[in-house]
Amino acid sequence: MPELPEVETIVRDLRPHLSGRRLEAVRSLNPLVLRHPEPERFVAGVTGAEVRSVGRRGKFIRIGLESAELLVVHLGMSGTLTLEEPDVQVRPHTHLRLELAGGGELRFRDPRRFGRVLLGSEEELEAGGLLPRLGPEPLGAGFSSWVPPETVQSSLRTLKAVLLDQSVVAGCGNIYADEACFLARVRPTRRAAGLRPREWQRVVIALTVVLREAIRRRGTSFSDYRDGFGARGEAYESLMVYGRAGLPCVRCGSRLRGTRIAGRMTVYCARCQR
Ligand SMILES: [Zn+2]
Repeated sequence: MPELPEVETIVRDLRPHLSGRRLEAVRSLNPLVLRHPEPERFVAGVTGAEVRSVGRRGKFIRIGLESAELLVVHLGMSGTLTLEEPDVQVRPHTHLRLELAGGGELRFRDPRRFGRVLLGSEEELEAGGLLPRLGPEPLGAGFSSWVPPETVQSSLRTLKAVLLDQSVVAGCGNIYADEACFLARVRPTRRAAGLRPREWQRVVIALTVVLREAIRRRGTSFSDYRDGFGARGEAYESLMVYGRAGLPCVRCGSRLRGTRIAGRMTVYCARCQR
């Protein structure tokens, strides 16, 4: 599933190619991925609109249009948003094709269809519950001094569950939650409220380190993730714990443990992480 580094990579890839360009036409649209508004209004809203900005908030790609509306894309589990030449064959599960003035096509593809596409003003999308309330950006200014909110301090949830909660921290998912906990030497299975301040501090720093490193490597590709041009990321080889249950810890050599937390596979080293 694309997390902050993968979405950020796509945004950085697409930004110079989309900014200032006009969306000429909607060449195809599967209404099943369009969560808002109705297809007719969507087509009318994007056709002829100039792209003013390409940004990210959490795992949401936000394309700002001259109408001040946002074209929002969430990649879900398996989504890709790529810039293609119009004559490149359209792959199966391509749900949206936006033709760009002057050539090129923006394509949203999503085999598992957990992704979604939205169009509207920020207020409209927030009021309709279509854009969830998100916690702070881990790569934003001031995050190094972040302390968990009261809701975390008073809950019974594990550290892993808290890190996955987008309303607590935006953009972190299964991969980087496990990686950050390993780097911070804190077990993801711990009750979050029981972490000492300096343990939180280590988790916060570790999260920014693993996210920055993954962006530098252009994201982690398992099966589906691709960057804005359709290429794989390179962060997979650098993962320390994620996907490595039963394999030796890179730090101490003991066998990494795998367990399920909040329905998600979680891997950690019982010797290195406390
Ligand atoms: Zn270890």
